Amino acid sequence: MNYALIINAAVSLIMGVALVLVWRRDRTQAFTRYMGWANLAQLLVPAGYWLTAQSSPAAALLGMGALPVVAAGYTTLLAAGTMSLAHRPVSKKFAGLFLLALVAVNTSALGLGGMRLGQATAATINTLLGVVCTYWVWNTGATRYSSEKLVGPLLVLLGLNQFIYVLYQDDGAALQATLGALLRMALGLVLLYAALDRGALATRKLQHRFERLTDRSHQGILIFQTEHIVYANAACMDIYGASDMDGMNTAVIARSIPKAERAMVGQLLQRIQSGLQDDFSYEALRHRQDGGPMWLRFHFFCTEWDGLPAVQVLISDDTERYQANQALVHQALHDDLTGLPNRAALLKSLRGRCKPNGPGARFVLVLMNIDRFKLFNEAHGHAMGDEVLKALGHALRGALDTGVEVMRLAGDEYALVSAPHGDGDSGETAVSIVTTVRQLLAKPLRVNEGEIFLDASLGIALYPNSARDADSLLRAANAAMHMAKRTPGTSHRLAEKAFERGASNVLEQEQALRAGIERAEFHLVFQPKVSAESGQLTSFEALARWDRPGVGPVSPVEFIAAAERTGLIGALGTALLKQACQQIARWQLQYNTCVPVAVNVSPLQLLDPRFPQLVAHILDSCGVDAQWLTLEITESSAVQNMEQTVLQVEQLRAMGVQVAMDDFGTGFSSLNMLRTLRLHTVKIDRGLIEPLPSSDAIAVVRAICQLADALHLHVVAEGVETTEQARTARDAGCGELQGYLYSRPLLPHDAGPWLGPLTEQRPTLA
Ligand code: C2E
Ligand code: CA
Ligand code: CA
Repeated sequence: MNYALIINAAVSLIMGVALVLVWRRDRTQAFTRYMGWANLAQLLVPAGYWLTAQSSPAAALLGMGALPVVAAGYTTLLAAGTMSLAHRPVSKKFAGLFLLALVAVNTSALGLGGMRLGQATAATINTLLGVVCTYWVWNTGATRYSSEKLVGPLLVLLGLNQFIYVLYQDDGAALQATLGALLRMALGLVLLYAALDRGALATRKLQHRFERLTDRSHQGILIFQTEHIVYANAACMDIYGASDMDGMNTAVIARSIPKAERAMVGQLLQRIQSGLQDDFSYEALRHRQDGGPMWLRFHFFCTEWDGLPAVQVLISDDTERYQANQALVHQALHDDLTGLPNRAALLKSLRGRCKPNGPGARFVLVLMNIDRFKLFNEAHGHAMGDEVLKALGHALRGALDTGVEVMRLAGDEYALVSAPHGDGDSGETAVSIVTTVRQLLAKPLRVNEGEIFLDASLGIALYPNSARDADSLLRAANAAMHMAKRTPGTSHRLAEKAFERGASNVLEQEQALRAGIERAEFHLVFQPKVSAESGQLTSFEALARWDRPGVGPVSPVEFIAAAERTGLIGALGTALLKQACQQIARWQLQYNTCVPVAVNVSPLQLLDPRFPQLVAHILDSCGVDAQWLTLEITESSAVQNMEQTVLQVEQLRAMGVQVAMDDFGTGFSSLNMLRTLRLHTVKIDRGLIEPLPSSDAIAVVRAICQLADALHLHVVAEGVETTEQARTARDAGCGELQGYLYSRPLLPHDAGPWLGPLTEQRPTLA
């Protein structure tokens, strides 16, 4: 009998300890804790009986007092375990009240009916508890494991087992102890199995959750541990083009990182894994296995993998956002029509190249403007104009070195920027660019199945020689381009520093010009025009000069353009006109004779409706007869404001002032215009005289002369530098010749003697 009791106690002890240990391992499984302690509490029951059997009344009383409490405690623990198994939360308050109630019931039963009734009561309560447990676990679907369903019936059997002692007293003790041990063992095993099942379920749940979180995440997740990839989710494999974990190795990742970055990434992984750094984020361009670009955002941080430190990398594929961004940037920096970089891109590039602290690498900026494009557009329509701009952009791109950036700034204006060159010669680079452009424009441009010849004016600025900051460099190239515009045909000019050096912005230019006009810093030089037949002086052209104090001579092309830009051309033009008339008066006084003097008039001066009155007033105030004054107006200004020009020319003519068409052949030569404007003289532009005596050039000059002849116009050939040019120009029909062959522009006291008798030095034609 003793053995049965000992085995029973041992089973309770083992099962109790096992269950409590399970709980200590996994505290989410509270039922193991309660059931474990119930088993251990059960051990106290034999001790209670032993006390009651003692001869000492105090010990017996203690036993009698302890037994109902121990029984109540056991039942309460079983109840709590049952509830937690059935997922019914056990509150402390409920457990306390339940315990007290049980103690009261057990004590009353023991007190009223003695030991037997006490045992019967406890057995009944425990059996009922088993029934309730069976009901809960079986009916409510509280658990999905069939093993757990055995808990209720086993508790019922354990409760019923207690009746053996009630019925047979000590005779049944061995049987009850043996059956109890077996049932308790079965119950313990079922509970342990349930705990295992529940643990496995929780693990599976966690794993499932992890899979849902990582495998379905669009963000790539990569775990590195001591330079090995231990985990990569589907998104990550997708990013690196791997089909499974075998394809996901360090080599694949390393290959995707540009060489320059590899060492940095390696160090970063080490620092994070060793805890020297918490986390780190960066963005970078990578390439897919098919070569496609992808913009990735990486976030590295320290994590734990299999209990050891590891580095987790979150990888976001930001390619779409990046590409959208790039598209926006591209749009902002490119011209829609030609797809070439635009003005904003040019400024960005120039600002990047012009270093504020000391010069960066040298480079060449060429601004290029198509000649007479506005008129071409008007004649052929804007759609055709657009095609030309596109074709030219394309042709430039194809013709120039790949290092030269081709940009379209606006309308018919392009910019060409050479690659930076360390210490090479900028001049050579500029010459090479200009030569390429010239060669390109010498050939016809194919547009819409047709062929078009274009001329362009090129302004060249060298960094850092011409200017040291982006804006000044652009201005310098722009001014040079405007100078080039004055020369017909495709021509180029190198930016001059003189004006820009002293005056870098419009306001400064205005101040300098205004001061120059007030201080009478501008003066005129006079270039003779001679008769093509006799070589005798026929007239002078007055040309403005500005020797800017502290700066030096400034080209008239530059300061006239600046005066036009700043609105000072009216004042300057008036001052120059006055000077010319005063000089005529002086020569008349000195030599008692004169020749007509031609004064250049800016198109902007001509726009002023009171211009003829101004001329009349100046002539009058100087006491000069109108016949000695010729005004040279340019073809382009006449074309642009035809109606106004017709009126002005008419009035000037009525006053007796002659009007000459300057730079003829550079603009949109219109026969109609020559007919409408009642002019006196046509000056053939230097660009058409220069190629003489080539037969093509002769044909052009001859055609102009015949046309002029038909309209009763005098013809002056400008820029005559050689006797061949002079002879062919004369033979083609030019009546007057002007150019360095005869004389450079002269100061008044050098020009004066030309009014006297013929001198020997003057070249004569055979
Ligand atoms: P433009 O009216 O066509 O003046 C002729 C230019 O050709 C002058 O340049 C003259 O010096 C230059 N030239 C004359 N013969 C030869 C030659 O044989 N070979 C070469 N290579 N060049 C020759 P400049 O004096 O530099 O004047 C340039 C331009 O500035 C003028 O072109 C004119 O458009 C403008 N300009 C000059 N003075 C005035 C002025 O008082 N008022 C206005 N509005 N413009 C002026
Ligand atoms: Ca002129
Ligand atoms: Ca001219």
